[in-house]
Amino acid sequence: MKCERCDSELEEGNIFKIRWEKVCEECYIDNSLPKHPCDPIAQMNMENMMEVTKKSLMEELSERQRKIYEFVKEKRRVTPMEIAKEFSLRELDLMQDFIVLRRLGLAKGKKEGGTVYYVLWD
Ligand SMILES: [Zn+2]
Repeated sequence: MKCERCDSELEEGNIFKIRWEKVCEECYIDNSLPKHPCDPIAQMNMENMMEVTKKSLMEELSERQRKIYEFVKEKRRVTPMEIAKEFSLRELDLMQDFIVLRRLGLAKGKKEGGTVYYVLWD
């Protein structure tokens, strides 16, 4: 089965749905992000800003998002399942928190040997 948005191969247990479309995690997350007409620029500015404001970005996070960030930082790489288990989260709640971390350039998903791990951005 292939992702209906980017045509990449979908793996069992790693299929997300946007209404009736079956998509990969990447497309699912992208779809969940707020769209902005000049997004690439906004993104670029944010990356420049990142260096100086990482600390204040951390203050933007909710308590739980900060804990997830710290957990990923400590483990270096961790599966969404492990995070969900550690914090007793439903996958959907975790996904929403993770989207914030990703949006702020703090963490990202990384595929290794067919498994998606969450890692720090750097
Ligand atoms: Zn896709």
